[in-house]
Amino acid sequence: MDGHPRDFRHWTESRLQADSPPPSTAFPKIQTRATSTLTTMGDDFLDVDWPGGLDLGAATVLTGADRGKYPHGNSLLVRGTRQVALIDPSLTIAERGLSFSVDHVLLSHVHEDHLPGLSQLEDVPVHCHEADAIGLTSLDGLMAMYGMPAAVEEDFRREVVDDFYYAPRTEISTFSDAAIFDLGGVEIEVVHTPGHTKGHCVFVIPQARTAYLGDIDLSGFGPYYFDEWSSLYDFEQSIERCRSIDADHFVTFHHKWVISGRENFLALLDQFANVITNRELSMLEFLKEPRSLDQCAAHRFVYRPHVEMQFVNHVELSSAQIHLDRMVNDGRVIQLNDGNFRAA
Ligand SMILES: [Zn+2]
Repeated sequence: MDGHPRDFRHWTESRLQADSPPPSTAFPKIQTRATSTLTTMGDDFLDVDWPGGLDLGAATVLTGADRGKYPHGNSLLVRGTRQVALIDPSLTIAERGLSFSVDHVLLSHVHEDHLPGLSQLEDVPVHCHEADAIGLTSLDGLMAMYGMPAAVEEDFRREVVDDFYYAPRTEISTFSDAAIFDLGGVEIEVVHTPGHTKGHCVFVIPQARTAYLGDIDLSGFGPYYFDEWSSLYDFEQSIERCRSIDADHFVTFHHKWVISGRENFLALLDQFANVITNRELSMLEFLKEPRSLDQCAAHRFVYRPHVEMQFVNHVELSSAQIHLDRMVNDGRVIQLNDGNFRAA
């Protein structure tokens, strides 16, 4: 990557000048540690103490409750000789607090579950990709990124504030693809991977041989590309881009947690991408008989039938539309005169 390193030193100076206490020092240290088959943090790990945390050298996974199952998630702490950066402060961090101070927060993207810990880090500068900045500076902006129907949005808007501690930031910094953050002997490289949101990024920490994948979460559910700020095409391009990431450890915000070994990562990435392929094959099977858009949505190609959440219908409709559009465009599906769709 050929981006220009950003020196964080000036941030430190401005923070030292500010007459405000360091964030989150009042929280007691939690001594319990979960065991892990990988190396967990040792006593020599500065003063960072996190139950279930995983030390990867310059980077430490701050494992979320339930191993990062939504609404929680796995955050990453990256330490250089001069600065400490925290990536995606989770709901677990919001609830538990931090026993150490942080100089910068970087976000893989702006979604409700990736920023609750900001409530513990009010004076710490926040950085996100320029395309997602709108969601960090206003709640209306964040809602525009989801693009939910009004009935669903009303409840969700409340949830984001009450359960995820959302508060708009007036001052933020933005970055773009190939930016490099220099923490002092340790760097964070930005790889723009849009699709889940327009500004979604993967962060690579070469000195820890670690890549932070955000919501390219490699789960069995597959890629999530159903929001206003999402793009199926971009997501597929981003998955391709991820294949060339050079790292030994791959950290997901949800579900998988830490995948060690590049071959393991590539195999999971294939499975993850195949969810999209299989969805389209299932739709083509269903479309052997003419069906409407609503019938496709009601058949459920994303969620299983037993899932009863308010937003499911919206997601199914959005998914059906995205895939029908694409398959009509490339000739796999024909739209009939009555508006129904049939496999070609
Ligand atoms: Zn997300």
